[in-house]
Amino acid sequence: MPTKFCRLRLLIAGLSIVILTCGTSSAAQASRDSQGGGSSTIVVIDAGHGGFDRGGIPGQKIPEKEMTLDVARRLKSVLTANGYRVVMTRESDVFVPLPTRVAIANSYRNAIFVCIHFNSTKRAGADGIETYFYSRDSLPLASAVHYFVAGGAPSPNRGVRRRGYYVLRKTKVPAVLVECGFLTNPTEAAYAQNATYRQKLAEEIAAGVRGRFSVTSALSATRVATAESIPLQSYIDQTNVRGSERSRSKRSHKKRSSSKSSKKKKSSKPVDSKSSATPKEGEG
Ligand SMILES: [Zn+2]
Repeated sequence: MPTKFCRLRLLIAGLSIVILTCGTSSAAQASRDSQGGGSSTIVVIDAGHGGFDRGGIPGQKIPEKEMTLDVARRLKSVLTANGYRVVMTRESDVFVPLPTRVAIANSYRNAIFVCIHFNSTKRAGADGIETYFYSRDSLPLASAVHYFVAGGAPSPNRGVRRRGYYVLRKTKVPAVLVECGFLTNPTEAAYAQNATYRQKLAEEIAAGVRGRFSVTSALSATRVATAESIPLQSYIDQTNVRGSERSRSKRSHKKRSSSKSSKKKKSSKPVDSKSSATPKEGEG
């Protein structure tokens, strides 16, 4: 009888250890995931433009495509050192069509998509950092990336914005597009041409990738403020911005590159094809 009882206790103790071990390992996995590291997440880095597509506006001195590629390469190094698997949509000065960029991102289930651009406009005074997202699932990533990049750059904070850019709307994974300053602004152009600054941009974007699970609402951030919590960045919904407003506010590249159908359906319709949130408004 005592022997039987002992065996039972041993069995229970053994089972408990198994349960505890399982619990610990999944907790550890969750913790690793929440820190964003580890091999489970693939970061698809998309350097805007390339090849014949210089980016920016006609006559712009600094080719946007070179700046985006340099920041993308630096970001790759930082993230790889952080334990992420990184896939680049381009690693050299080549043109990659937007659908190809999207297809690369969508070919991984555990991917996040980070698209790097610099801004441009005819008004030389325009400046600042802005970050775009489209799907709801992408907001924490956009919020975190913007928090770090806008916080780490000396440039003004233009906010997190929601807009249906092709690469954001067509990706099925969390996707963000960060505009790292205006190359048409003399001050920001000077920053961008400095390698130390571009390294800083890459490190801030990486911090946003790592911190994307730490985004909290403003309310909870004030209540349970921890060193790691990143307040949700307020955003401007620009998904229904009129075409005329959009062209007034600087436009370039990815916006245009997906707009062959916006030419097609050129009309007085307020929404251009990229901005439309209605699924029936398909485009190529
Ligand atoms: Zn661009």
